[in-house]
Amino acid sequence: MKFSLLHPRDQLVTTMERIYHYGMTTTSGGNLSILDENGDMWITPAGVDKGTLRPADIICVHPDGNIVGPHKPSSEYPFHRAIYTQRPDFRAIVHAHPPALVAFSLARQTPDTRILAQTHALCGPVGYAPYRLPGSLELGAIIAETFAQGVASVLLENHGIVAGGASLLTAFQRFETLDFCARTLIAAARTHNQAQPLSDEQLALAQQEETLPTFAPSAHTGRERELRQEIVAFTRRAYQRQLMTSAAGNASARVDARTFLITPHGQDRLHFEIEDLVLIQEGRGEQGKTPSRMARLHQAIYAAHPDIGAILMAQPPGVMAFGVAGQPLDTRLIPESYIMLRDIPLLPYGVQFGAWQQVATPLSPATPALLIQNEALLTTGATLLQAFDRMEVAEFSAQAVLHTTSLGALAPIGDAEIAELEAKFLS
Ligand SMILES: [Zn+2]
Repeated sequence: MKFSLLHPRDQLVTTMERIYHYGMTTTSGGNLSILDENGDMWITPAGVDKGTLRPADIICVHPDGNIVGPHKPSSEYPFHRAIYTQRPDFRAIVHAHPPALVAFSLARQTPDTRILAQTHALCGPVGYAPYRLPGSLELGAIIAETFAQGVASVLLENHGIVAGGASLLTAFQRFETLDFCARTLIAAARTHNQAQPLSDEQLALAQQEETLPTFAPSAHTGRERELRQEIVAFTRRAYQRQLMTSAAGNASARVDARTFLITPHGQDRLHFEIEDLVLIQEGRGEQGKTPSRMARLHQAIYAAHPDIGAILMAQPPGVMAFGVAGQPLDTRLIPESYIMLRDIPLLPYGVQFGAWQQVATPLSPATPALLIQNEALLTTGATLLQAFDRMEVAEFSAQAVLHTTSLGALAPIGDAEIAELEAKFLS
């Protein structure tokens, strides 16, 4: 489904549902708008349950101020208008009060988006608007003034976040990615280390274009078709479990000794379709499609490990707290973690761009997962289910370890217990 072809009313309802169900707004909080080609502003209404919003509830405000619809427009309508006036490049605005970003606004800090190359590329730096009365013209003026600095999002002091974009999908992805940054940074503050943002040189590494020669597949096997459905289902599930955001993360599965399927570059992870997936055969990509930028890394892993049938790379925020703080995640604390994940090596940022053997070589049946600093957790398995299970277990383990810091010292299990686990489950 092409989201941009939906009517603004349907785009707004679908996006609000997504924000509500991802836990980024309450029933009464948050508002979204789209400015269409006629200058009409489509905006969510005031005082309507955000959990059950329908297209008929959306309000249209004409350029002359005339309001059409069954409700009043959002009480924060004035700042939407002020931002569009200031930023003609914006066609959509997303505003809500997700707890992690509100925490930053209460601490009067902006989240650093340089924790991952993808988050920085999508969001850039975050602006900061001092407190003004909600719904007031003064609030609108100060937010618009901050957007005039050229930023794509503004944190509202003691209030929430506003993100803009040339489409609702872009504004939403910025909003969601900022929430991911905030949650990851808050979690990273509970590790022993500080979050380490990427330097300009490190960010530049991620800018290099990586194109593969192409080929036209002569046929699509039953196995390939089966895997297309599986990859779509598991990426959707990874998104719904908040192991991925809509703008980062990739997955692949082996079709045969020479061929694998991988997710495409740059599309919304919740809405991958089977035809979006890219077949890769001996270093060549299916023509007319752009594979994930990690395709060559996946290829190196499949070439080195015939036993690996699937690879996932994602950014679950608990694990990434360790990944951005440069601290290994200790899996020897919980039997399930150790059995599923064994020790997870921490690799330096940059290996994912060309140093593929440095990623492929440490993998083995006894090392099925790797954490690449400021990039992703990489899990492997004989099947997608196994790689997915490992991703989920890693995130639960990371969250458990992070929660413990609020309670007391971490008490690991001993070497004798680890030896016992190895003898029973891993020999
Ligand atoms: Zn608000």
